[in-house]
Amino acid sequence: MDSAAIRKELVKMLGKDKVLTEALDLMYYSYDSSFLTQMEPADPYAVVFPKSTEDVQQVVRFAHENNINIIPRGAGTGETGGCIAIEGGIVLDLSTWDEIVEIDAKNMQVIVRPGVIHAKLNEELEKSNLFFPPDPGSSQMCTVGGMVANNASGLRAVKYGTTEQYILGLEVVTPTGEIIYTGGIKARCIKNVSGLNLTKLMIGSEGVLGIVTQIRLRVWPKPKARGIAMAVFDNLDDAPATVLDIYQGGLLPSGIEILDSSAIKAVNEFKPEINLPECEAILLFEVDGNLPSVEYEGEQIKEIAGRRARVVEWSTDKKRMAQLWEGRSVTASAASRVRTDGTRVFAGEDISVPLAKVADTLRAIRQLAAKHGIQVVNYGHIGDGNVHTAPVINPEIPEEVERVLKLVDEIHLLAIEMNGSTTGEHGVGAVRRKYAELEHGQAVEYMKRIKQAFDPKGIMNPGKLF
Ligand SMILES: Cc1cc2nc3c(=O)[nH]c(=O)nc-3n(C[C@H](O)[C@H](O)[C@H](O)COP(=O)(O)OP(=O)(O)OC[C@H]3O[C@@H](n4cnc5c(N)ncnc54)[C@H](O)[C@@H]3O)c2cc1C
Repeated sequence: MDSAAIRKELVKMLGKDKVLTEALDLMYYSYDSSFLTQMEPADPYAVVFPKSTEDVQQVVRFAHENNINIIPRGAGTGETGGCIAIEGGIVLDLSTWDEIVEIDAKNMQVIVRPGVIHAKLNEELEKSNLFFPPDPGSSQMCTVGGMVANNASGLRAVKYGTTEQYILGLEVVTPTGEIIYTGGIKARCIKNVSGLNLTKLMIGSEGVLGIVTQIRLRVWPKPKARGIAMAVFDNLDDAPATVLDIYQGGLLPSGIEILDSSAIKAVNEFKPEINLPECEAILLFEVDGNLPSVEYEGEQIKEIAGRRARVVEWSTDKKRMAQLWEGRSVTASAASRVRTDGTRVFAGEDISVPLAKVADTLRAIRQLAAKHGIQVVNYGHIGDGNVHTAPVINPEIPEEVERVLKLVDEIHLLAIEMNGSTTGEHGVGAVRRKYAELEHGQAVEYMKRIKQAFDPKGIMNPGKLF
């Protein structure tokens, strides 16, 4: 069936209001937030906006019968080309299906449709003193469905873990158009070890095994107090060593972030009034809980970090906390401004390495950046070894693009060499699939067999993961 006929059938099936067919509209869906799609955008045949499980099922059955690719999409904030129809197909935009079905506070869980925005969910939960802890930097934009598909997390993963720790059950439309419920059809329990864990299998599967149409997730009591510490280091190795000291001191902060000298310089150039101290690295600690415990832990962090740091400041004052954290919150924007004729590209941006190798990794990235003549800004969630690397180039200059692609490739290989991973939180999508064998070896064959069992025709989000 050609793409015009597909569009006609979809309009017949769902009505005009739920289908986009115009070239200009489709162009919008040829991008996500990755550098890859900036270079190689790919238009889908059509975009549909399902508003019920039956809508999704109808479209998937039609696609399955006619061998048409299906690509689920949330808000398109992914950095990997994951929601793009790189081999053609129908995009299912789930972002407008954003119902909070039930806040079941008495059972500490909530049921949502996939398009709910993460920050909006937390706004609603706050009314019951609850929260859904994973906290991607894209919280104001990304959907809970996209978070499940990418197993998203953020700077508080160090204490609260990733999305997978919170998902109790899913409703999924499989690539053959069946509806399955993982985690128990009627279950409202929190603990559950019955059956093969298909919930975990779906989480982080990046839309290649099916479409998540409903999510039952666990929520936590919202901490009442927080405090921030900033520690300034003249020696890069002292930063990860201090993180270890903190852990060995029996403390688990809710966030431990690093800015290396490249990020400090970028922030100070971007907003001189922030005036971060010139040094090799800054660590920021966030502690949350009840006020007495927060105060106690803050004092402990001050004492422990002070053994290696030039200076440590701790505060629970709202205004001062915001000032201490400001450098971290503007880092991504600052990275984009280090060159007036360039911009930060999202490529090789998310490696994860063992804590003991963070300093070596940062040094190696600096060497690679110098070798390829690319300016790079480094920061990240050092508490779990997740390093964000921001290369800054002028994408209009093909020779620079070529150089940055070589650099990014070497950064990914470096991560594997360091016993780490090519991605700590953003996922594989189309951009990192070439490293699958190197990272997982024979296990990739088993991943492919699982994919085959779910999706015998290979229509569900092809060209991603492996
Ligand atoms: C400024 C910025 C900051 C970011 N910070 C973080 C961060 O701190 N931590 C982090 O983890 N990520 C971060 N990201 C990446 C991204 O926001 C997350 O991966 C997010 O979870 C993607 O959600 P989305 O709704 O935009 O999904 P999309 O980008 O639309 O899709 C992502 C993947 O999920 C699949 N998918 C989407 N919805 C469904 C569904 N209902 N069923 C099945 N598959 C589905 C898609 O096919 C695709 O493979 C950031 C991105 C930006 C732009």
